[in-house]
Amino acid sequence: MNPYLDDTLMALAGQARRFATEQVAPGFLERDRTRVLDRGLMKAMGGLGFIAPELPEAVGGLGLGCLAAGVIHEEIARADLSLSYLNLLASLNGQILSEHGRPEVVAPWLARLTAGEALIAIALTEPRGGSDAANLRLRVERIGDHYVINGEKTSISAADQADAVVVFGRTGAVESGAHGVTALLVPTNVPGLTRNRFDCHGQRAIGRGSLFFENVRVPLDHRLGDENKGFVQVMQGFDFSRALIGLQVLAVARVALEETWGYVAQREAFGKPLSAFQGVSHPLADFDTQVEAARLLCLQALWLKDRGAPHSAEAAMCKWWAPKLAYDAIHQCLLMHGHGGYDRGPMEQRLRDVLGFQIGDGTAQIMKTIIARSRAGRGAVPA
Ligand SMILES: Cc1cc2nc3c(=O)[nH]c(=O)nc-3n(C[C@H](O)[C@H](O)[C@H](O)COP(=O)(O)OP(=O)(O)OC[C@H]3O[C@@H](n4cnc5c(N)ncnc54)[C@H](O)[C@@H]3O)c2cc1C
Repeated sequence: MNPYLDDTLMALAGQARRFATEQVAPGFLERDRTRVLDRGLMKAMGGLGFIAPELPEAVGGLGLGCLAAGVIHEEIARADLSLSYLNLLASLNGQILSEHGRPEVVAPWLARLTAGEALIAIALTEPRGGSDAANLRLRVERIGDHYVINGEKTSISAADQADAVVVFGRTGAVESGAHGVTALLVPTNVPGLTRNRFDCHGQRAIGRGSLFFENVRVPLDHRLGDENKGFVQVMQGFDFSRALIGLQVLAVARVALEETWGYVAQREAFGKPLSAFQGVSHPLADFDTQVEAARLLCLQALWLKDRGAPHSAEAAMCKWWAPKLAYDAIHQCLLMHGHGGYDRGPMEQRLRDVLGFQIGDGTAQIMKTIIARSRAGRGAVPA
């Protein structure tokens, strides 16, 4: 129980946990090997209303709050962080499409997204760098009634499995920075778009890869937001995904802690349960405390979002703290399992899976800069 989650949200979380335990958890290790997202599971999740439930009913959602998205996201992530990328990408891109797209273009995509029939990726990062995102260079030219795209995006989650991508490209001068960027919805079956797949350390079922654009044409009505305003308008959505990422990785840490408490209570050394030794139980108690606190911060960020209140600093706090904390907590859990923790299996996979979020969606340094700017003012914290 906590002040953010009422009985309705707790019931929703319970429903999501039953689904995740019965249908998602059994394939957790297998999907890491096959590196394929299960489209059947995706459809089942859509059928149950588990994908982007915060979107309005008119576009396929359930009109629930962002906290509802958060509790479902936690339960899927508990069972398989890679699969919960479906929730993360759908909530982030669903918000972008519904708020910034032309209804006649985005409506069919939103319907497929929430039904679990389409996966949409988001492409900001380029080979020259990701932290300085506003400095991106992918060329987008307006020619007649189309935009023509040339260049490369890299390190894009679900690059080779996505059905469409929200792509950020440069329509203005390089010197215009964030003010010369336009966002476009690009179906992945368009001529001239090719993709590859990296051999990732973790998050292997969702995967990452590059997108190569060679004279890719999309109609003007596929623009999201205004021309040259894509970055400024659309980046607001990242506050949402940062809070969701926090819940996602902390859910993985929580299940690791639960299993480890169980393990140290029953395994014995020197004639006692491992948990009798404070060298074992106190580090776990430390992490348990911090995971609980960090989760409340993530719920607070979503609660603020549901009320339309500013939450950029809180979201950035979630995004730097939770992935580091989750990694450290799972590392501790793995060590508490002794040699068994080092074998291929759930604990080492969880460690690999959560590590990616210390980089993806912005590193700790960039998040701390966002927090510093919100506290000291942008002028006092130049890039
Ligand atoms: C698992 C994963 C999933 C990802 N998914 C996506 C995706 O779906 N879409 C997408 O567009 N991108 C994605 N990325 C890319 C990710 O957003 C970038 O890797 C990230 O923003 C950092 O960019 P970079 O790797 O180019 O590092 P760089 O920008 O080259 O930075 C390298 C290091 O320098 C530090 N640094 C840079 N500038 C500063 C500064 N001003 N002050 C202090 N330190 C600084 C960084 O924190 C980092 O540690 C993903 C990455 C990972 C690992």
